[in-house]
Amino acid sequence: MSETYGSALRKAIARLSAAGLDEARAEAKFLLLGACDMSSSDLILNEGEPIPVESAARFEDFLQRRLRHAPVSLILGVTDFMGLSFLTDERALAPRSDSERLVEAALERAPQMAGKVVDLGTGSGCLLQSFLHERQTWTGTALDLSPDALSLAKENAARLKLEDRITFLQGSWATAANAIAEADIVISNPPYIRTEVLDELDPEVREHDPMLALDGGADGLIAYRDIVSLCSVKMTPGAWLLFEIGFDQAEEVSTIVSGHSFAELSRLKDYSGHNRVVLARKL
Ligand code: GLN
Repeated sequence: MSETYGSALRKAIARLSAAGLDEARAEAKFLLLGACDMSSSDLILNEGEPIPVESAARFEDFLQRRLRHAPVSLILGVTDFMGLSFLTDERALAPRSDSERLVEAALERAPQMAGKVVDLGTGSGCLLQSFLHERQTWTGTALDLSPDALSLAKENAARLKLEDRITFLQGSWATAANAIAEADIVISNPPYIRTEVLDELDPEVREHDPMLALDGGADGLIAYRDIVSLCSVKMTPGAWLLFEIGFDQAEEVSTIVSGHSFAELSRLKDYSGHNRVVLARKL
């Protein structure tokens, strides 16, 4: 009797747990669903059925990659973010669920009428594109220094049928100066990890996410200083600036923002209870 979906899943959970992976159960399930191209409810209905040979082989390949610390999002090649599916590969930072808080906060400040949003360091495009998906009359500008990241963001925009509403720009922050001047909302999840702790990150992050998307310089704050300086001279009064921040950076990033012409400075927590967003309104 060949292996069933259920027994394949149980064995996989045991292997991932034995390797010390904390989320063994959830990860094994996601990898099995991806390998077999099935939904959770398909799995419940078919748990006792034999798993096809090709699916079993693909599942084994996925498990071996996970045991070598490839992140699940890269193995599957897609990540769910704000209920949308984003292509995920080594061209850009993998979307994190913590970043959904930033998009929700931006949407709360975006009335339904037409508007313009700028995303500084768009990466995969998940922030800007999930925002635009919810605001059909808005247009956006996606800036990134990395041509690789932009190529991935363009593929994601095409999948979500958003490419007509996004202007893609390659270059440093100042390349977006004109777009920033016209924006109602500027969002950014810039690189914010201190250079000296990059070596201590989990291998899933250190070996798979681009350093350009992580390295925030000696104190992790270089991008915030540069973006705030640029936005404080370019942004229109009343427009919002929203940053994702590292869990311990709320104080420092708030200090940077409050040194410039912004009001209504506040911070928001993610669902793990960490400060994750700092936002303010241009005076
Ligand atoms: N949130 C990412 C991490 O935990 C860092 C992303 C960034 O530097 N913007 O690795």
